[in-house]
Amino acid sequence: MAELIDGKKISTLIQEEIRVEVSAIKNNGGKIPHLAAVLVGNDGASETYVGAKVKACENIGFKSTLVRLAESTTEQELLMIVEGLNKDADIDGYIVQLPLPKHINDQKIIEAIDPKKDVDGFHPQSVGRMALNLPTYLPATPFGIVQLLERYKIETAGKHCVVIGRSHIVGSPMSILMARNAYPGNCTVTLCHSRTPNLKEHTLKADILIVALGKPEFVTADMVKDGVVVVDVGITRMTSDKTKSGFKLFGDVKFDEVAAKASFITPVPGGVGPMTIASLLMNTLKASKKEVY
Ligand code: NAD
Repeated sequence: MAELIDGKKISTLIQEEIRVEVSAIKNNGGKIPHLAAVLVGNDGASETYVGAKVKACENIGFKSTLVRLAESTTEQELLMIVEGLNKDADIDGYIVQLPLPKHINDQKIIEAIDPKKDVDGFHPQSVGRMALNLPTYLPATPFGIVQLLERYKIETAGKHCVVIGRSHIVGSPMSILMARNAYPGNCTVTLCHSRTPNLKEHTLKADILIVALGKPEFVTADMVKDGVVVVDVGITRMTSDKTKSGFKLFGDVKFDEVAAKASFITPVPGGVGPMTIASLLMNTLKASKKEVY
């Protein structure tokens, strides 16, 4: 039976480490890290995510600023807000919560963010620096996965890592990170996606399997070899009559049967998910300490 990779525990630990560091910065009269978040419109899920980020900042002693804008905000108006945040010397880093309303081009906004303050790691300069293995802000989910592998001391050098999914926020950056000449990394990487034939032939060769396709319980025991390390990124909310809330979260991996063969596995919920906030806070601390630029 696999050892559980406990993302909730590691996320709490990282936040506690940052809290202690911020407290020392405060005591020495240093600058308190300051994260801003821009929320456009009233999307319920986005409100929840941004609310959780602001609350996490408060808990660890960061300053936080929430910029709430109406759904009707124009692209030009948002670009001006972004310009203002770029110039605001007190703000170390900021995020613009995605997705934006349909009349605003997400990519245009991402590219207007000063890369020095790009704590979401989505700016093309951040992505390019990641590919070149230069200091940068890693996007939250990949940074969280890297932290989990590191904290559980999972050996990666010389291993075969198979990534399922090539999205810009998870699969694609994970394939780059696992192949880089660093720890975690130094893997031989196979990146699979919706056009990959005979997927099982690849997954059966994986020493480390990172699954991010968004299809509940897609990976089954017959698709993995004994001893595999499984990172399940998928989160799908489905109705259930077995829970009080009427909903249950499913990962992309059929947990019980795959866990019986794996050496390590991330659960859903409680695996990769809780790490995203810790990653954002780590990036903001880096920005405040000018560790990247
Ligand atoms: P996406 O929809 O942008 O990308 C899915 C990828 O899966 C695509 O690249 C596609 O080519 C690939 N794919 C689809 N069907 C496939 C198949 N049958 N075989 C092989 N590849 C296939 O998804 P995403 O944004 O990367 O998210 C993936 C999952 O991870 C979702 O469930 C999402 O909710 C979850 N997610 C979780 C976190 C977290 O914090 N835990 C963060 C981001 C995303």
